[in-house]
Amino acid sequence: MRRAAALIVGGGPAGSAAAIVLARGGVRAELHERSRGDRDVVCGGFLGWDAIARLRRLGVEPETLGARPIRRLRLCAGGAQVETTLPSLAAGLSRRRLDSALLAAAEQAGTRVVRGHAARAVEAAAVRFDDGESVTADALFLATGKHELRGAARPVPSGTVAAAGLRTALPPRPELERALAETIELHLFDGGYAGLLLQEDGSANLCLSIARARLAAAAGPTALFAELAAESPIFARRLDGFLPERWDAVAGVPYGWRARAGEAGLFRVGDQAAVIASLAGDGIAIALASGEAAAHALLAGGPDAASGYQAAFARQAARPVRLAELFRRSAERASSRRPMMRLLRLVPGAAGIAARLTRIG
Ligand SMILES: Cc1cc2nc3c(=O)[nH]c(=O)nc-3n(C[C@H](O)[C@H](O)[C@H](O)COP(=O)(O)OP(=O)(O)OC[C@H]3O[C@@H](n4cnc5c(N)ncnc54)[C@H](O)[C@@H]3O)c2cc1C
Repeated sequence: MRRAAALIVGGGPAGSAAAIVLARGGVRAELHERSRGDRDVVCGGFLGWDAIARLRRLGVEPETLGARPIRRLRLCAGGAQVETTLPSLAAGLSRRRLDSALLAAAEQAGTRVVRGHAARAVEAAAVRFDDGESVTADALFLATGKHELRGAARPVPSGTVAAAGLRTALPPRPELERALAETIELHLFDGGYAGLLLQEDGSANLCLSIARARLAAAAGPTALFAELAAESPIFARRLDGFLPERWDAVAGVPYGWRARAGEAGLFRVGDQAAVIASLAGDGIAIALASGEAAAHALLAGGPDAASGYQAAFARQAARPVRLAELFRRSAERASSRRPMMRLLRLVPGAAGIAARLTRIG
């Protein structure tokens, strides 16, 4: 069995942020990421101003990666729409581009990045990988995001709402480019929402968060999209008859869950620490914030600082996560969605305030 100074499992934003801060603090961690090369993940690709500021501090500049600026939020429900200016400049960027830039920054800072190496389980204080290798470390950073690792799965209480996520891209089109210029569009439906924004290559990232029951009731994702287009003329115009057949998918996303307690040596970061409703578009910022906070905790207090970090981060994430849950629940039911849209038409600035209050800061 090999021993590492610090072991990070998962190379999304949380794992990379932890790696960069550790390397800057003189700890050369090992980061193991199961994917072999650049890949898309189920994500809306929305970078809030808090995520952008954190990325810059980590040495990653979204603008130079081609991120598209976003100044407005458009909420659409049925045939109605409300538009508001966001409190600060946000951006749209594919996760393919973002995650590879973060991993490159981690490697450049001195982290040993191992790609194509999937952890299978945590057993007797060691991580066992798919090739049979076992690695142990005084500090384990669990950064597997939406995926559980056997022996260290998130203790999510039964009964927690678990949504499914789907992602694809709409090919570039002049009409789409005009409609989505500097705008994130959220289409609200019973049981979920679809987010649309332009990515660096001119395609539009299309991401759907949907209650499992609604997905199960449809005859597959393509049929579900046809159903959603029939419910909303604006959404139908965006698709323009395009019904994607290839999807990235994830199931069992436990919105609203936070890791409130920890154990010595185990630092849960990103979606393994707190899962904000994706409608708020702050999961990437939370991933970066938790990765940074966990790494600082290890540097300052050693492996025993894990429990204190976990409790403190749960407190920090409480307000955005709870408020985002409130907005998600209001948006997902017609009975609360209609009055919400009416209110936002009267006070469009309220959506901007909600966007500000759901940032991790
Ligand atoms: C439908 C939907 C839309 C969203 N839209 C947005 C948005 O627009 N903006 C936003 O800020 N947030 C959004 N989010 C949330 C955001 O995607 C997550 O919060 C964020 O990706 C969490 O980052 P992470 O690093 O914790 O995990 P991830 O990004 O999931 O990364 C985890 C990494 O770990 C790797 N991994 C997993 N298991 C293993 C293993 N066993 N061994 C090795 N490697 C492993 C994976 O390959 C992956 O690279 C959305 C979420 C959903 C579900």
